[in-house]
Amino acid sequence: MNSASSPANPATSAPAQASGLTPPAAVSGPPFSQLPLSEAMQANLRTLGYLAMTPIQAASLPLALAGADLIAQAKTGSGKTVAFGLPALAKLDPRLNVGMPAVQALVLCPTRELADQVTTEIRRLARAEDNIKVVTLCGGSPIRPQLASLEHGAHVVVGTPGRVLDHLARESLNLDALQTLVLDEADRMLDMGFADDIAQVVAHAPKQRQTLLFSATYPEGVDKLARRFMRDPKEVKLTERHDTSRIRQRFYEVKESERLHAVGLLLDHFRPASTIAFCNTKQQCRDLVEVLQAQGIVALELHGDLDQRDRDQVLVRFANGSCSVLVATDVAARGLDISQLEAVINVDITPDPEVHTHRVGRTGRAGESGWAFSLASMDEMGRVGRIDEMQGRASEWHPLSELTPSTEREPLRPPRVTLQILGGRKEKIRPGDVLGALTKDLGFEGAQIGKINVNEFSTYVAVDRAIADKALKGLQGGKVKGKSVKVRAL
Ligand code: ADP
Ligand code: MG
Repeated sequence: MNSASSPANPATSAPAQASGLTPPAAVSGPPFSQLPLSEAMQANLRTLGYLAMTPIQAASLPLALAGADLIAQAKTGSGKTVAFGLPALAKLDPRLNVGMPAVQALVLCPTRELADQVTTEIRRLARAEDNIKVVTLCGGSPIRPQLASLEHGAHVVVGTPGRVLDHLARESLNLDALQTLVLDEADRMLDMGFADDIAQVVAHAPKQRQTLLFSATYPEGVDKLARRFMRDPKEVKLTERHDTSRIRQRFYEVKESERLHAVGLLLDHFRPASTIAFCNTKQQCRDLVEVLQAQGIVALELHGDLDQRDRDQVLVRFANGSCSVLVATDVAARGLDISQLEAVINVDITPDPEVHTHRVGRTGRAGESGWAFSLASMDEMGRVGRIDEMQGRASEWHPLSELTPSTEREPLRPPRVTLQILGGRKEKIRPGDVLGALTKDLGFEGAQIGKINVNEFSTYVAVDRAIADKALKGLQGGKVKGKSVKVRAL
């Protein structure tokens, strides 16, 4: 089994594991039943719990289902995958065959992570029909399983531009029957220098097709890209403000020398279970992680220089509750679908008020309340002024001296610890094998075990901090899937 052809992502298919995706806060738009979709698809949407459309879905689905090219802009977490997934699947003819299923929809994404998220969501939507094959083609993954998987054909391909191009050049992928081309996270693909690759992929696609472009922001480059490849596109832009009513924003004035220390004070005072700290530069990220780690806080850095494996590991640890703070630049965090964020800290004030709104909107999702803290020096007051202007209100200032270390003497600690088992899909390990080893063999309670993520070469299991040592020793001495395994605590 490999990632390219597995029927579902093992990490999300295990019943014991909660999905890492954020459902949008209380969706209350028009019902999906208004749309011209098959009865099977309507039933499937109900099963998935998708009853009302999100604003971007309500605005774009009628146009896209009618066949129009579309430029759609909406913030992260607004449900864009369904907005392009439904039109792509509605047009698809599962029986169209050229000796094997022909590729009728192609979704280009900037990173493997995002491609995996899109694949998972499209597979869920595709359950309405029998046997829709979705294949993921991303760089950084071995090409051989992808080739093997393509030999049997696919209806939908999701991939990164470079790798998709690679397959087109090898002629392992053919787009002659393509009906729908989706450019997802177009702004980020441009940031990552994919413009030429995208152009080359488009050159392999038939002229008669529907092109759907989705983007969180709409800089000039994206506009240019759209004009090159699209026919008379309709535009749907939802730059509406995040629902900030549940987000409590506070500003603190800091001297430059206090800034990084102030982050520790905020964490200690408010003790959020999970936080993203945004910095304007990679260097600032690095410095902050060092300062926080020195205080015993589990903080990890997410930046563009991490290789894919390290990046996956950071995100797994953050999502499974074993890392308190993710320290990131805006570029590194773009497009991430991260749930249950209690706080956002703006370590530096961004020069772009729109980016500020984006950062802050990452907390307070799914009906939960959230904190947004911003640290501003005198030099940054102009930026704060522009933010106030855009938000239409004055920001609320608090003095740093108000932050008192909590009475609990323990430093802020995440509830769980990640154990890494060296062995993954390659060794045919499944989440159930690990859960079984911990509960049946070692006698731990199911509730003490958190998320289990099986990657290609590694398996990550989150366990309660209180049992971490025992679980580690137990796994080291025991067996998973009948074999002894190497395990370490991260
Ligand atoms: P985006 O691509 O805009 O960042 P996603 O497509 O990743 O957003 O969707 C975010 C989350 O919302 C996903 O977990 C998805 O399953 C969920 N979702 C999408 N549409 C709906 C809907 N109409 N009702 C409820 N949940 C939805
Ligand atoms: Mg998306």
